[in-house]
Amino acid sequence: MSKVITILAPAYNEEEVIDAFYERVVNVCNHIHEYNFEFLFVNDGSKDRTIDLIKSLRDQDKRVSFVDLSRNFGKETAMIAGLDYAIGDAVIIIDVDLQDPPELIPQMIDYWEQGYDDVYAKRKSRAGETWIKKWTSATFYKILQKTTRIPIQKDTGDFRLLDRRSVNALMEMRETQRYTKGLFSWIGYNKKEILYDRDPRVAGTTKWNYYKLIDLAIEGITSFSTAPLRFSAFVGIVISVFAFIYMFIIIGKTILFGESVIGYPSLMSVILFIGGIQLLSLGIIGEYLGRIFNETKNRPLYLVNEYNDDRVMVKHEVK
Ligand code: UDP
Ligand code: MG
Repeated sequence: MSKVITILAPAYNEEEVIDAFYERVVNVCNHIHEYNFEFLFVNDGSKDRTIDLIKSLRDQDKRVSFVDLSRNFGKETAMIAGLDYAIGDAVIIIDVDLQDPPELIPQMIDYWEQGYDDVYAKRKSRAGETWIKKWTSATFYKILQKTTRIPIQKDTGDFRLLDRRSVNALMEMRETQRYTKGLFSWIGYNKKEILYDRDPRVAGTTKWNYYKLIDLAIEGITSFSTAPLRFSAFVGIVISVFAFIYMFIIIGKTILFGESVIGYPSLMSVILFIGGIQLLSLGIIGEYLGRIFNETKNRPLYLVNEYNDDRVMVKHEVK
């Protein structure tokens, strides 16, 4: 029996690219004869014909399978759904928009055969992205690296090959607010990087906007580090020290020169400043509290509508 490799592609409103993606991936995989392939699409609640196109691919080619989620859950969740359903000895996560060149797949498999558990593709360039996006992502990586103890891979997306044991490790981590990039680093094992040029999207539009990016950035920092909590405590201490010193100055002044009523502007600015810091700290605490709240609900990460043409019942009956 030859080994199975799952090509896992999360798709959200990708009707324009599904067929082109399939063509190109199959083209690459048909030249690799030593393995069986599974092409697993996760339809992340698309509102267009994505699922119909996937189903018609499955009619022609039984190596295609699909997980149809009950609504749009976001790429992070779509990926864990895919990992849950993947049958391969290795799983390759790839975007459907062909920004991740499938031509790297043979090289990834080579490294996997050499014993690497996580062969990830690192971008050399970011063609088709604005300088603002490049700059924000660079700054974000820098902050993330500084605040967390685990090494986060820079300029690396989700495009990678994962050995079964890495996949199983990721499946163990059922946190609802997932920051998968961090999780890849967290699990460790033998990693290998491949350099490549990231292409612009072939068709369709990006599903990302700045709101989502900021969201992901906060997610990334708060799920891997408690440094912001410490930061607010630190700021609190520094301000208290200054306030204390300032108190002595005021007392001294009053004793020496008597009391005066002037000082409204300085009073006002101190109050506003402290008020701002307090709100900020509350916000940071709230961010973590919110995460605790979400995790304690213990909900399933996603619900599946259909898996390979079968209606899916709720979890414990499926697997
Ligand atoms: N995607 C998804 N669910 C979402 C948003 C995106 O499954 O809610 C998929 C999308 O179909 C694509 C991949 O995630 O295969 C990357 O999305 P996109 O190309 O929009 O992101 P970018 O490449 O701009 O970071
Ligand atoms: Mg893309």
